[in-house]
Amino acid sequence: MRLSSAFLFLSGAQAFIPGLNGRSPIQKLQSMAGDVGIPCEDECALESFPNLPPSVHPGVLSGQAMMDLLDHAKQNGYAIPAVNCVSSSGINACLEAARKNDAPIIIQFSSGGSQFYGGKGLDNSNYRAAIAGAVSGAFHVRTMAEQYGVPVILHTDHCSKQLLPWVDGLIAASERYFETHGEPLFSSHMIDLSEEPIEENIEICKDYLKRMDKVGLLLEMELGITGGEEDGVDNTDRPVEDLYSKPEEIYQTYDELKSVSDMFTVAAAFGNVHGVYKPGNVKLEPEILNNAQAYICDKLGDAAPENKLPVSFVFHGGSGSDVADIQRSLGYGVIKMNIDTDTQWSYWEGIKIFESKYHDYLQGQIGNPEGEDKPNKKYYDPRECLRAGEVNTVKRLEQSYADLKCQNILGLGMATEAKNVLGPRRGGLPV
Ligand SMILES: [Zn+2]
Repeated sequence: MRLSSAFLFLSGAQAFIPGLNGRSPIQKLQSMAGDVGIPCEDECALESFPNLPPSVHPGVLSGQAMMDLLDHAKQNGYAIPAVNCVSSSGINACLEAARKNDAPIIIQFSSGGSQFYGGKGLDNSNYRAAIAGAVSGAFHVRTMAEQYGVPVILHTDHCSKQLLPWVDGLIAASERYFETHGEPLFSSHMIDLSEEPIEENIEICKDYLKRMDKVGLLLEMELGITGGEEDGVDNTDRPVEDLYSKPEEIYQTYDELKSVSDMFTVAAAFGNVHGVYKPGNVKLEPEILNNAQAYICDKLGDAAPENKLPVSFVFHGGSGSDVADIQRSLGYGVIKMNIDTDTQWSYWEGIKIFESKYHDYLQGQIGNPEGEDKPNKKYYDPRECLRAGEVNTVKRLEQSYADLKCQNILGLGMATEAKNVLGPRRGGLPV
């Protein structure tokens, strides 16, 4: 089994020799299964994947292993889907989809999603519910990612200036986790100060990057504005020029952040919009990313990387985008695409289809078309409609994986059919 005695032998203050940028060269870390004694067999116990760099393993990645996976994506022209999750059910659907597509996945929580994960009945003063909810979700992801045998990047989504105490709480949790496990609890966080002047945006991001780099956390920052509306932030009325980043700004950001660490990605604006709308005035211009890469390579001269893609870009607001535009952006250094709106719809649509299929069995606890004294327990059991949401989401994510050219990446082949799961014989309904 992965890790075990080597880690125990090394645990303690001397275990982590700072490597490049303070990153630990030791990547074989404790697994959640090993940590608390969960059975870990077959793909869970893999040390690495046939087609990926040896540092990449089943479970949550951070530090060098995460960087190796992101480099692999850039080098091979694919992007990893990053799906917003608000429940353990949504997370499981993502893990199931990842294994089905033989691919990595990024699971992320927004601040509102984190709060929901903790429960909307819990007071959120000082973001306590959002911090506790995200940490709770992180442990779920850490436990289950290994069992599904897939590599996962565990991320948090948009964090504006006023939400910084939320991410501060999560970084503190990662720092504490690092002390005992040699890796952070999360993999990465987004800090979105695109509303602030660019100098302030970069300065604050540099400070965070300094702190995060020490424990192997990656920073995603935003430049320019993603249009549309998501998680309570409404940019639908912003001037059109704010929706496109300039090469000089991207270079300035790259240059300054790179002086601190290479563990950052940039969500640049190229006409992307949160949400799905009827076609309007804002046009997706992936060429902006290409032009920025060329501009930066020019500035870097001989120091430019061989692949001519110095910046790792993140694609926000991809829902409803033309697949040709999405795929063009992959060649320009996009290694992560956020998916929220489309999986919100798929989860709901699964429930909607379930409800219409069994409508007459869902109107009371007793009585359906087969008889007025027939019990309906197996239809209204919440597992049934939630599973319908999951199945439809796995199906939708398969399309995202195809759009992002992110299939058959791990080299594990087809997933074997799950055995011993709840089926019709044991009370479960076919979906
Ligand atoms: Zn976004």
